[in-house]
Amino acid sequence: MARLVAEILATAPEQGRAQIIAWRSPVKELERLAQHDYVRSLRSILSYSDLRRVVSNAATVWPNLNHRQLNPITRSKFTRTALKMTQTLQVHFQASPYQGPEGMALRGFYVERRRRMLKRPIIYVNTAHQPGAVSSTFCHELGHHLTSRLFGAHREGVHFFFDADYAEHLNDPIELAADVLVSLAGYPEDIARQLFSAPWDWGLVARTGRLSAEVFGKVRKHAEAHLGIDFGANWPAHQRLNYLAGMIHYAKLRWALLAEYDL
Ligand SMILES: [Zn+2]
Repeated sequence: MARLVAEILATAPEQGRAQIIAWRSPVKELERLAQHDYVRSLRSILSYSDLRRVVSNAATVWPNLNHRQLNPITRSKFTRTALKMTQTLQVHFQASPYQGPEGMALRGFYVERRRRMLKRPIIYVNTAHQPGAVSSTFCHELGHHLTSRLFGAHREGVHFFFDADYAEHLNDPIELAADVLVSLAGYPEDIARQLFSAPWDWGLVARTGRLSAEVFGKVRKHAEAHLGIDFGANWPAHQRLNYLAGMIHYAKLRWALLAEYDL
């Protein structure tokens, strides 16, 4: 299995050529996400009944989803927890730092069993990232596993997760469903209601445009304190901007879930 993971990793630079270019200069991507209307995407990509099925499927293995805050965990505890969870779910799990010049562009991947004729699906997580990012990658890949039966099979059978690729997730129900679970894990309902309680014109078509400076500040504090994301100077500027893009993406998605589906 490790050989198959290595083979798939070897194809990542080719598969993700466009994403890696965006990852190198994430400012454009960041601006695109900041302006994007997440409610419109959510409504057109995942219906309320799809969403209910996604959440109730996930709740079978994740009973505290949307109820209890996911806390940052240490690297060793992460591997133990993830390993236990994936063994229960009959998923092959590999976590290792992905080296290489563009390695950090890749967060992880999920391989469907049915397309590759595998005994078990595969979750791979790139642990070269900081712990908060590693945990959210794991949530995303686990999200694929928990929701894959609800959607048609992916063309290639491999779902790559590239750091700069969030806008594409907004056009793809498979990716968006996995991201919904990351957002619910990172911002459970009571936290989401506190964070996104800014004045809102509920009477009009709900839109989530730009996060206000106040909400942005609160979200950032929450991400640093509770999700273990470090936006400090220890990381190269483009990497910090990519993490920031992820933070904006998951926060706005959470906001949209609250605004559109009261979840
Ligand atoms: Zn994915």
